[in-house]
Amino acid sequence: MPYSHLDENNGHKSFQLPGSRPHYNPDRPGQVEHIALDLTLDIPNQSFTGSCTIDLNPVRSGIESLTLDAVNLDIQGVSIDGTPHEFNYDGELIHIPIKIDVVAGKVVEVLINYGVHKPQRGLYFIQPDEHYPDKPTQVWTQGEDEDSRFWFPCFDYPGQLATSSIRVQVPKDFVAISNGELVEQTAFGEDKVYQWMQKEIHPTYLMTLAVGRFSEIADSWNGKPVTYYVEKGLEESAKLSMGKTPQMIEFFSNKFGYPYPFPKYAQVCVADFIFGGMENTSTTLLMDRCLLDKRASLDNFNTESLVAHELAHQWFGDLVVIKHWSHAWIKEGMASYCEVLWTEHEYDKDEAAYYLLGEAQSYLSEDSDRYRRPIVTNIYREAIELYDRHLYEKGACVYHMIRAELGDELFDRFIHTFVNDNAHKTVETIDVLRAIDKATGKNLAFLFDQYVYRGGHPDYKVAYSWDGDSKLAKLTVTQTQAKDGIHTLDNDLFDLKIPIGFGYVKDGIADIKVTKIRIYEKEQVLYFPMETKPDFISFDVGNNYLKTVTLEYPLPELKAQLKSDPDPISRIYATEAIAKKGNLEAVAALTECLANKEFWAVRLEAAQQLATIKLDIAVTNLVAQIGDEDAFVRRAIVDELGNIKTPATYAAIKQLVETGDESYYVEAAACRALGGMTTASLKDKQAEVINLLTDVLNTRAGWNEIVRAGAIGGLSKMTDSETALKTVLEYVKPGVPQPLRLTSIRALGAISNGQSDANLTVIVEKLAELARESFFLTQVSVVNALSQMATVKAIGVLQSLANQSPDGRVKRMADEGVQKVQKKIGTDGAVKQLREELEEVKKTNQDLKGRLENLEAKSKQVTT
Ligand SMILES: [Zn+2]
Repeated sequence: MPYSHLDENNGHKSFQLPGSRPHYNPDRPGQVEHIALDLTLDIPNQSFTGSCTIDLNPVRSGIESLTLDAVNLDIQGVSIDGTPHEFNYDGELIHIPIKIDVVAGKVVEVLINYGVHKPQRGLYFIQPDEHYPDKPTQVWTQGEDEDSRFWFPCFDYPGQLATSSIRVQVPKDFVAISNGELVEQTAFGEDKVYQWMQKEIHPTYLMTLAVGRFSEIADSWNGKPVTYYVEKGLEESAKLSMGKTPQMIEFFSNKFGYPYPFPKYAQVCVADFIFGGMENTSTTLLMDRCLLDKRASLDNFNTESLVAHELAHQWFGDLVVIKHWSHAWIKEGMASYCEVLWTEHEYDKDEAAYYLLGEAQSYLSEDSDRYRRPIVTNIYREAIELYDRHLYEKGACVYHMIRAELGDELFDRFIHTFVNDNAHKTVETIDVLRAIDKATGKNLAFLFDQYVYRGGHPDYKVAYSWDGDSKLAKLTVTQTQAKDGIHTLDNDLFDLKIPIGFGYVKDGIADIKVTKIRIYEKEQVLYFPMETKPDFISFDVGNNYLKTVTLEYPLPELKAQLKSDPDPISRIYATEAIAKKGNLEAVAALTECLANKEFWAVRLEAAQQLATIKLDIAVTNLVAQIGDEDAFVRRAIVDELGNIKTPATYAAIKQLVETGDESYYVEAAACRALGGMTTASLKDKQAEVINLLTDVLNTRAGWNEIVRAGAIGGLSKMTDSETALKTVLEYVKPGVPQPLRLTSIRALGAISNGQSDANLTVIVEKLAELARESFFLTQVSVVNALSQMATVKAIGVLQSLANQSPDGRVKRMADEGVQKVQKKIGTDGAVKQLREELEEVKKTNQDLKGRLENLEAKSKQVTT
């Protein structure tokens, strides 16, 4: 049975799954100084042969054995300093008893001859097949976090830093790209040999190789080559997507107080990549789907953020390396925060503030829906489980809070100190605190204790009233995350000095008087004597602390805040509080905000809030703004209108589907929304909508299949339609463009929850069949679909994926999926499941009995 999903974690699910344990770096026999790979690729046979040479400087004399990580490699021989050595290999580790004298400080050369055929992980061969004849032929690697051992023997943990070189022989029409500088490029019959040399030390997980018939686009920064590699024909798109790289290198070199540390920067766009991007030292790999076309670049900033994120890692991760995965937030949090810093630099402060709010919200939803954990923990099953929204987005929020505590100038000084002191070294979380102390004299241990070493964040409720007789502003601040009776400071209360502002508006300009108040109890009632009544109240001026906040202010103060608070995040919180009033005045205030020349993000949030008010006028006003000039606002309005099923909203969305939109994403949102509208009074529109969406599927193939994926999303909401199901099933067939196919697989989960029992069986059987495909993204989509189902039938497939998938992320999602499904089906379902399992056992028993009888009969035949 699964573990209990509630623990003492204040009602939050536990991060630790059964089988979790503490992880430490291994003892080290010495310092690896250099790793040299020499490989000859046999691309058609998906294999290579070669050698791996490790120069090891022993830390002590008399070492008697070495143990190297190496998974499913074909190890042909091992020698140390030229002397052949015996070895034991169990498919995961090579044990080498050492025959020669090992002396501390005297480097030994360990040479391993090996090969690999169809590697399961680490190095991937991408090739066209019968279903995808146009797929490019490529070879690429992915080491993080513990997969380099699948393509070369090594001490595979980030605590070991060494220089490296990769020499590789490939067919001559291919280009091979790797870390560092190209030191050799020679023709060799029908082949070509490339040798790349990385002279700056780095860990094994950042060693890479990418091979393809790439087109090479040359750019530069400060005389250093900046190169974009894409499949031929995508050169325009490469410029559009990665063209800001040199400006970013300039920006980060200044921000970190350390010029870009490597001899070149290459970005290689590869097919079927299993992450968004990977920051291999000086050679980032990106998924080719990040390549934009003109229309996508209108409202897709993800690619620009991805490019900034991976580039920032060249300092945070590659130059300054984490000593252990448990400290991965140092690099992932910073790379994610660098998306915010770049946004602030390239666009403006408001855009950056909203970007950060988005990061906070993605952490908050993981915290409330999935689990709560300390950012730093070494207790897990596989390190890859740590790569979640706590590590990235909450990590980014922590860096932002450090900046807020220190101020911009001291923050930069801290970053410069941290990077310069730790360049070409490994770091742990304590080193961040040490650098802050060294550079600024500030001790931020209190912040780390509350936000890094334990889970959670404060949930504030702030109530305000004005006492005109005694001229007192009364603020009641409650930390609602602290449950009655069990809260303690080291448990779930937060102790922070929150700036509280009182805004006075004159000629449309707000003057804010700020007082810092220590908020540390579950409930604090605060009185502020004021000469005149403030126009609005701003809790946590600057909104720097990671938190949630619910405002209980009178409507006039909220309206004043929405109009005049200079902080867009405060205005956004105001829209939410205004909507809760639910009256005509609230509708008017939000409508005015939406129709005015407000910052687009505030308009977007106002639209979402307007949609929550159950008054016809709110809907009418929302429909009126469906043509907003900003694509993000249009998309949000369309999403909201999809949940309000009236003839007017239906007509508006339907028209948008028919005529299309400048933005792929708005068009897709309209398709998705329309599919969800055909219930209740709009039930009779179902056939019409299916026709429309089928038409979209037949005619609007295009960039990353965004629009057609929207149509599939729309169909998946028609949970009682067999026609819709049949259409979705058409698009899970092999040969369908991959992004559309993956969307369709996921859609099988959503569409299942209203289908007949017979159709449920069809869906589960289809997903079970798809689960056998080994491609990571297919497995993720299958797990996603099954996790949305409300039938015991889904559990068996999920369990087998949890047990058998080679990927730690898939295993984890499958385990969580089992719990989700169990929760949905509830106790009745659980009993039903037990009954079905019992039936299954009975059946197996009968089968076994039958086979036993057969065997007995046969054995009798033999003996007689
Ligand atoms: Zn990253």
